[in-house]
Order: sequence, then structure tokens, then C-alpha cells
Amino acid sequence: MKKILFVTSEAHPLIKTGGLADVSGSLPKALAELSQDVRLIMPNYQTLNLYGEIHTLFSLRVDNRQINILETRLPDSNIPVWLVDCPEFYNYPGNPYTDESGNPWPNNAERFALFCRIAVICAMDKIGQNWRPDIVHCNDWQSGLVPALLSLEKDRPATVFTVHNLAYQGLFSASRMVTLNIPGQLWNPEGLEFHNMLSFIKGGLAFADCITTVSPTYAQEIQTPAFGYGLEGLLRHRKDALVGIINGIDIQQWNPEIDGTITQRYSADSIHNKVHNKTELQRRVGLPVNENIPMFGLISRLVEQKGIDMVLNCLPEMLAMPMQLVLLGSGDKAVEQRLQALAQAYPDKIAVTLGYNESLAHLIEAGADMFLMPSRFEPCGLNQMYSQRYGTIPIVRKTGGLADTVVDTSMETLANGTASGIVFNDANSGTLLEAIKRALLLYYSPEHWRNMQINAMSKDFSWRRSAQEYLQLYEKLRH
Ligand code: ADP
Repeated sequence: MKKILFVTSEAHPLIKTGGLADVSGSLPKALAELSQDVRLIMPNYQTLNLYGEIHTLFSLRVDNRQINILETRLPDSNIPVWLVDCPEFYNYPGNPYTDESGNPWPNNAERFALFCRIAVICAMDKIGQNWRPDIVHCNDWQSGLVPALLSLEKDRPATVFTVHNLAYQGLFSASRMVTLNIPGQLWNPEGLEFHNMLSFIKGGLAFADCITTVSPTYAQEIQTPAFGYGLEGLLRHRKDALVGIINGIDIQQWNPEIDGTITQRYSADSIHNKVHNKTELQRRVGLPVNENIPMFGLISRLVEQKGIDMVLNCLPEMLAMPMQLVLLGSGDKAVEQRLQALAQAYPDKIAVTLGYNESLAHLIEAGADMFLMPSRFEPCGLNQMYSQRYGTIPIVRKTGGLADTVVDTSMETLANGTASGIVFNDANSGTLLEAIKRALLLYYSPEHWRNMQINAMSKDFSWRRSAQEYLQLYEKLRH
């Protein structure tokens, strides 16, 4: 059994801004189910959704500030969550990282440096708990200083650093090294220095015993200039310590056999029932009810990363064919307006819902025949996994987690029972359109289509499988 301290800046359902919260809410539970002793540490934000009992575990003074370490549990589990309580730094309204206008809190360097220092104190068993982790598992830049500071300790635990999004690096002016009281020996180009800036993420990338990212393909991609944001050299240098492990999904919440938000539940054995969700979806979004017309679903943040512009460019040709598109998303205002105009111009073919709508997302996954996900980059991605569980064939670009979780359909993959979607290479609308046409041909070949659906629905996207991979990794690390 390993003792694991999971260091994170957000965890669902306590607080969530993105995918990191899903991982932090799920992976520790999956590790605990594999009999591991896991504890979380995170800041005590004002806006945490706290459930159940909470008490003070330990109090200490750091930089003349009173810090309390509070203890609660991750909801629906016995996993202890240690909350670093320092009202001056964390007792703010709203988002953990930004103010209401989306600007980073001006003292983010101080806030997360303190968080890292406290995590190190806990990791070195200096809070009277007689609990010393074997592994300190850090996530994204907010915990980046932890591996760096621990590297200076004798007899330290092993460190893992997971990159969920390399685009966010925690870059601050070099002068912060002094004000944050960071030991000078960490300041060099092989350490925390990045083009004369202080880089929190480099603390993880340069000093952790092992680096992981959320898919094997993204682990390769971030070693190249196109995806590396200037860190590709360091990542190439550390390639022997860098692995990709695909995130799991919540297989209870996203399960067509028990999903309470859809119209008709179904499994691979009763896949003929899926169509009732399609007709209900058509009714719900105001499209003509027709069981036989191929229906594309799309649920996404409307940002450049997700390739929505490529879909828009394909629409003139798509609209010439029998098809429907049901789109749910929010983001870029110009894209939102274009989509709304299209939905008004083609009310029989395109339905657009702007905003965030969890239950509609479930019905789209259950009702659509195909799911469009032409991302330019995708560290892991969730919707392509949800789609496969619902027998909705994903059409994805060959990048990051999409490349690792969807098997393209060919004569060979149909024959060997692995075909589960349509995968295309280049990020342009011409190749996307070819992929869409290929999907339509298969759609009109019901036997092949049924095989693809069944292959897709029988895949294991559980957190248990991912947690086993993390565990194997932890076991290789010795300290
Ligand atoms: P990313 O984290 O880059 O946005 P993912 O595919 O990894 O992309 O995860 C997106 C998650 O957010 C999925 O669970 C998806 O269903 C959900 N989602 C995105 N937009 C919406 C929306 N408008 N309404 C409901 N769910 C949405």
C-alpha cells in the first residue's frame, strides 16, 4: 500500500473550473478503491462547496502568518482533504484563480507559493500526523514549486507532476524569487528560470521524479514546438521520465443503462432503443422528427482549440445532404452569433443551444448518431469517451487523447473488432468533410455501423483502469 499526498488547486465537487477538478475528484477515489492511502491537499477557498464535518488539524506560523490546516472528507468517500486556511490569501469570492472580470488575482504568486510551502511541510510529516507520504502527486503550475522545494530536502518522498494543460504555466517576474523567499539555488535555466521569468510549472517539469500528462499522444506532442510553448526542449530532455496516462470518465454518471436524464435507457444488447432518445432530442430542440436522418451532435466550449470554425466551413456541403446537426456550447461571441444565424436560416437541419446544459448534453450523447470533435489540440478530452459509451460514433482529429481513445474504422479494424469511430489527420475543413462523408457511408451500412457501436460501447474508460496505471508508476518510484 502506498501513501499518496495529492496536491491540487481544485477538486470536484468542492470546487471546479476545469478538467483538473474532475481528475482530482475521481483519481484519489479510484486509488483508494485499489487499497491505497490517499489524502488531498488544497487551498481553503471561500467558495468551496463543503459537505459534512470539518475540523482544525494543525496550526502553524509561516512568514509571520497564522495558517490552519483544516480537515474534511472528499464527498462520498473516506478520503481526507486537508485545506490550507489563510484568509488573507484564499478567502476571496468566485474563481480560485481570477476575479470576476477574468483577471488573475494580483497575488497569485504569493497565494500558490504559500500553498506549495505548506504542502511541502505536510509531505515532510511536520504537522504532527505521523503520516509520511511515499508519493507526492502534484498537478499543474499551482503546485509546481512542490517538487522543486522537496528536491532540497533529505529523505524526501518521491514526486510526480501531472500536466493537465501546458498552456498555463504560472509565469511571474524574476523579482518574486526574493519576495517569495524561494531558495536561490533553484534559480537557474535548469531550474525555475524561464527567459528571465519565474516559472512555477518548471518546478514540476524540472524537479519531479516523474512527469505525466493526460494522454500518451499529448506526451509526445508537447515535446514539439507546435505544442510545447517553449518548454519542448526541457520535456525532450526529460522524456525518459515523461509518460501519458489517459483520464478516466465517471462511468456511473455517463452510462446509458442507468442514465436518469435520457428518455430511454439502453445497452449494447438493446441498442435499438437508442433511437427513442434521437426522436425526443429532435422534439426538444425543434428539429423535424425523423428516425432515419443521420444526426450529428456537438458539445463544446466554442473556442479555437475545438476546431468549430472547421465545422462551420463544412456546413455548406453538409447542408446539401440529408442530415441534422444539434449543437450545444458557449464561448466566442462571434461564433455564437454565426451559429445562431445558421440555425435560423436552416431550422430543419441545425439546432443550436447556447449556454451550459448538463441534461441536454446527456440527451445529445444518447440521441445523436455521430459526434463531431475536430480539435486542433486535445490533452485528453472527455466527450469522445462519453460518445463511445453511448454508441454515438465520434469523428475526431488525430491529436492528443482523441488519437489514443478512438480507433479509426477500416476494413482491418472492422474485421478485428476494434473500429469505434472516424479519425482524420489534418486540421482543415477539407479533411474533416472527407471524414464526415466516410462516416455517412458507414451509417448507411447498418451492419458495419452496429459493429462500430458495439465495439465503442464495450470499451473500458473507467478511472479504475487509469488508477492502475498511476499505481504502477508509483511503484516504480523509490525514495
Ligand atoms: P474541455 O475540458 O477542453 O472543455 P473536454 O471534452 O475534456 O473539453 O470536457 C468538456 C466537458 O464539459 C465535457 O464533460 C462536456 O460535456 C462538457 N461541456 C462543455 N460544454 C458544455 C455545455 N455547453 N453544456 C454542457 N456540458 C458542456
